[in-house]
Amino acid sequence: MDRKTKEAIRYLGYGKNAVDADTKRLISDSFRELDQVAEQRMVYRIFELQETDGQITIGSLLIESKALKKNMKGCEKALMLGATLGAEVDRLLRKYELTDMAKAVVLQACAAAILEEYLDTRQEELKEDLGREGWYLRPRFSPGYGDFDIRHQKLVLRMLESEKKIGLMATDSCMLIPTKSVTAVIGLSKTPISCHRQGCEACDKTDCTYRRATS
Ligand code: SF4
Repeated sequence: MDRKTKEAIRYLGYGKNAVDADTKRLISDSFRELDQVAEQRMVYRIFELQETDGQITIGSLLIESKALKKNMKGCEKALMLGATLGAEVDRLLRKYELTDMAKAVVLQACAAAILEEYLDTRQEELKEDLGREGWYLRPRFSPGYGDFDIRHQKLVLRMLESEKKIGLMATDSCMLIPTKSVTAVIGLSKTPISCHRQGCEACDKTDCTYRRATS
């Protein structure tokens, strides 16, 4: 079973329970349908990062978040990114929400797994490219995570010109449109640190100085 399928099963809440054959079929059908419409687009920019008491500034964005500040400790720059699977995935989800709710739930989980895998792949590429210039990447950190206020989402998107570049925007209540999208910040430091791809929660370096708190 590939990692993407394992992730979809995890999102569906199966935990360690066995997945029945019908659900497995539903998952592989969903991935097949999503592969036909999912776009996988990303925009990113690198900004200077400044730290002051209790706050950090990334480009023109002032953020008060203890968890983010801790994770960015020692970073000189921050990479901001926006990524999306595009509007056609939303259309597919809406279609099944009206006709087949069970399929819609599985599609949601599979779309989330595709987005996560796409981000992991792009992050690995960035790690290699920026690594050649001596940068080390911290884990992705998204608005809405811990005490990083989701209201920052709109400004992040504006700084990335994401609507113009990849059609990604946010509603007044900070919901991303298309819905299968993500924004995140990645700290860049010159300090050698090998971060776990799935972030601090999955990392076994429990005494790491930069380990982020989730609240
Ligand atoms: S705990 Fe692990 S993933 Fe988190 S900053 Fe430290 S090394 Fe990176």
